[in-house]
Amino acid sequence: MSLKDLKIDNSWSLFLDRDGVINNRLVDDYVRNWEQFEFKPGVEEAMKVLSGIFGRIIVVSNQQGVGKGLMTLNTVEKLHEKMVSEVEAGGGRIDAVYFCPALESEKSFNRKPNIGMALQSRKRFPDIRFRQSVMVGDSLSDMIFGKRVGMKTVFLSSNLPHIRRGYKTINFVFPDLRAFAKELMSDDRCQINRIS
Ligand SMILES: [Mg+2]
Repeated sequence: MSLKDLKIDNSWSLFLDRDGVINNRLVDDYVRNWEQFEFKPGVEEAMKVLSGIFGRIIVVSNQQGVGKGLMTLNTVEKLHEKMVSEVEAGGGRIDAVYFCPALESEKSFNRKPNIGMALQSRKRFPDIRFRQSVMVGDSLSDMIFGKRVGMKTVFLSSNLPHIRRGYKTINFVFPDLRAFAKELMSDDRCQINRIS
């Protein structure tokens, strides 16, 4: 199956993990404030392209740094407001951001790979269809989260072999969000060229 076969249009929704997808992950640390938040290369352009394709764009992020007391709910919310406005300034769109502050040990229903954040988003946007949704992430828990509700999954990695264990949960692999957006964009161009 190729991405093209999915015939993605604005009836589809896009779910994005945050750290490692939208912004650079910090090694052994959490992004605690806007100063530490750094968009990955090409993300703002990618978000513009993806906003023109998908009907809904939802960010779903585990942020257990809150549960550990390293940052407050308020700081994370402020950071997300800034992230959304930067994406909008670049011509893109994020319809909603969900994050789970719970510790891994709490086994929260809202913490990926559990599906609480997916259900919350569908409650808010009843037009979301999980079968017509793509989950993009850089960890296995993102892939399991997507598969549990029937989404297509995109794993972002330049190093495939280390995730062989979870391979069954992954539909597509791209090095980064920019490459994923570029692939979808080139599909559109092919179709337009064929018509004209
Ligand atoms: Mg991540």
